[in-house]
Amino acid sequence: MSERLVFRDVRVLDGTGAPPLAADVSIVGERIERVGSVPSGYQEIDGRGRYLTPGFVDVHSHDDAAVLTLPDLEFKLSQGCTSVVVGNCGFGLSPLTGAEPPGNASLFGVERPRFARVRDYLSAVTSARPAVNVATLVGHANLLSSVLGAEERSPSREERAAMRSLLASALEDGAVGLSTGLIYRPGRSATLEELAELAALCGERDLIYTTHIRSESDRLLPAVEEAIEIGRLARCRVQISHHKASGKRNWGKTLQTHARFAAARAQGVDIAFDVYPYTAGSGPLVEYFDPARPDLDLLEVSRIASCPPFPELEGRMLVELAAEAATDVPTFVTRILAAPGGERTLCITFTMGDEDLERNLSHPHALIGSDGLVDLSGKPHPRLFGTFPRVLGHYVRERGLLALPEAIRKMTHASCERFGLEERGRIAEGMIADLVLFDADTVTPRASYDDPKRTPSGIECVVVNGAMAYRSGAISRAGRVLGPRRAARV
Ligand SMILES: [Zn+2]
Repeated sequence: MSERLVFRDVRVLDGTGAPPLAADVSIVGERIERVGSVPSGYQEIDGRGRYLTPGFVDVHSHDDAAVLTLPDLEFKLSQGCTSVVVGNCGFGLSPLTGAEPPGNASLFGVERPRFARVRDYLSAVTSARPAVNVATLVGHANLLSSVLGAEERSPSREERAAMRSLLASALEDGAVGLSTGLIYRPGRSATLEELAELAALCGERDLIYTTHIRSESDRLLPAVEEAIEIGRLARCRVQISHHKASGKRNWGKTLQTHARFAAARAQGVDIAFDVYPYTAGSGPLVEYFDPARPDLDLLEVSRIASCPPFPELEGRMLVELAAEAATDVPTFVTRILAAPGGERTLCITFTMGDEDLERNLSHPHALIGSDGLVDLSGKPHPRLFGTFPRVLGHYVRERGLLALPEAIRKMTHASCERFGLEERGRIAEGMIADLVLFDADTVTPRASYDDPKRTPSGIECVVVNGAMAYRSGAISRAGRVLGPRRAARV
């Protein structure tokens, strides 16, 4: 699907953080042909008054199943997103031999496919031809479950060797790194030593280790120390996923985490993080609720996003629902989880402070990732449809927290560099044409907590691999599988 297109009279932000340049940008086939003055003879797109930037990269998505089952990915493409990284927080659809981690059901739905090898998953992605490009990490929980089955325990020496060889073949198949989810079953039982041993395989190949760290609340600081130590031992890039300080008593701790990142970087540990632009998180209710020791502070600020057995609860705060049912919140939650399908309930938790969020967004080493969970049945967190427009509309235009070129850098060039995605993320002659044309004065995420499934306004055209992929709401699918930087392969 090759085209000859020109974006005429646009303000180009090249993705590096450089100031805008007034130019025409032409595309021939899949690549950017010229940035400057372009003659006639192309299909013309009038870009006056608008910005043309590289397509946005969602470095933290859970679109693993969606790229196969909902390949139009309107919720991503309509934000200007042209590539997603899947396999996050330790979970994915491959490699899966034998058992499957329990988190997969709530993250990827009941009808989720599964693949023994990463290369099988990636060829299914190629056949599905999703609307955006896809790079995958290898989930640590997948390695554990594939080797240990449903048991949650420490692997033996032989089992650790089996996990390493499973990871090595997954990286050979084209995965871009390893991810962990250290608050979830079964990843939480892993020791620092086991994790460093696996992450070392990424270090040897110049690939990334991403981590949903062991605590994002009371034990945030030791959890950050662990991530730094893994980076030091494994000699790999470390990416803390959806960095946050959760729970009011922990607000302000990002001052300390940022100081630790700076000190670790000064000692040669390449640690950074990504963040979504909201003060609420979202995840499976069952993972947030320990019946033996319910976290009342957390339940107090939680609402139901989707609830297969009781859809009428969607969008409501747990405290209100429990009061109406004349019971306490833990009892109410126990009832939800006990119902058939109740374990797939997703909740939204209002746990973060604005100052930490803004400090994270403006950090020079922060990238943007949505952490969107693709359950369109209820009222999902608005980050699924709104992440990138919210950064541009709210944090750049309304709050002035970031300059526009810097915000774009955190969504494009910096993301591709960090995850080893080559030939993308920058507007320059010869680069692959993943592009977005938008109006910086009007771009707005229309998705809200109460009405979360609305596409944004102000995103006018999206080009994926040189093909017009999104224009006036019409979608055409041109995504591909992205592998790691070729030079990095051993
Ligand atoms: Zn996570």
